[in-house]
Amino acid sequence: MAVPLFDTATALAPLRRELDEALLRVAADGRFVLGPETQAFEREFADWIGAEHAIGVANGTEAITIALRALGVGPGDEVVVPSFTFWASAEAIPPTGATPVFCDVDRETMCVTADTVRAAVTPRTKAVIAVHLFGNVAPIDEIRAVTGLPVLEDAAQAAGSTLTEDGDPTGRHGVRRPGALGDVATFSFYPSKNLGGFGDGGAITTSDAEVAEKVRTLRFHGSADKVDYALIGYNSRLDELQAAVLRVQLPHLDRWAGHRAATHVRYHRAGLDELVEVPVAAPGATPAWHIYVVRSERADELAAGLNERGIGARGYYRTPVHRQPPMAAFQPDGLADLPVTDELARTHLALPVSATITEEQVGEVVAAVGAVLA
Ligand SMILES: *Cc1c(COP(=O)(O)O)cnc(C)c1O
Repeated sequence: MAVPLFDTATALAPLRRELDEALLRVAADGRFVLGPETQAFEREFADWIGAEHAIGVANGTEAITIALRALGVGPGDEVVVPSFTFWASAEAIPPTGATPVFCDVDRETMCVTADTVRAAVTPRTKAVIAVHLFGNVAPIDEIRAVTGLPVLEDAAQAAGSTLTEDGDPTGRHGVRRPGALGDVATFSFYPSKNLGGFGDGGAITTSDAEVAEKVRTLRFHGSADKVDYALIGYNSRLDELQAAVLRVQLPHLDRWAGHRAATHVRYHRAGLDELVEVPVAAPGATPAWHIYVVRSERADELAAGLNERGIGARGYYRTPVHRQPPMAAFQPDGLADLPVTDELARTHLALPVSATITEEQVGEVVAAVGAVLA
């Protein structure tokens, strides 16, 4: 039996009627941009995240550009960003006029650390982008404490992940979520993400009222009323159809996230750890694994063998961002030296995970990994 790399359809199937009703409701209402659905979703998403404000935008890439501008990032500034991430984390920086400065990541969590960020900070650094990669949780508190800089969380892959206070696995002192850890955070609702729409979408969350106000202005042409213009902004809104679809899904996200987190345990029980290096959750984190990424010196051979057996597997970031040609212009003194990034680019491999993957499918994946590596 084939096991797909990801599967969003199975989780959405039982919501079919509710989703259809939501779409028809918007079509009948006739307000398609910045209407009641977006307003309601923004409130519901902010409450769920534990942030004061959520602002819907067009996608997760523009979310980063707009959030950086709301933090005051502009020409002449530097923004520290990992290179081992999806291209958009760094691509979103130059449109602000600022320069991306690439930092390394931790081999086991695959996220930035306070040390890797600090190594890239200069007197021109204006902000840090910490990516919660693959659903793991980057150490935002530590990065803020060590650098004293504003931190933008790129939480595009981490909707549903949680963090409990250190040493308190019971979560007695409260569970925190990516999106409420830094100064501002960005999400993508691209269909394959943990919370995905029926098209492009994104959001920015923050508990800083000034940042929220600036984001609202920037997403709407730098204006409050399309009469007077305070800033050169963007046309970047979450549309009503997407907001309505996301509202149907949000109440199910914790359950889906729980299943993603439990898949890590199922892979462990099925013996995956004995065959490859499995991902390591950051201290206190329960990652809602968006992509389940293992490491192997034989990653490409393993991917080919799994694909032959009908098992989804692929390397996502074989060429890290700082080695992509358009980023050379921002590294005039030579490409950044990022040994862990280069190693992970070579060895990482995504295996199937979803909100509905079964124990049987996990067993099949592990058996196939064993067969290919034997
Ligand atoms: C998907 C993603 C983005 C970009 O989101 P889009 O909605 O596709 O623009 C940014 N950063 C990371 C880490 C992502 O995975």
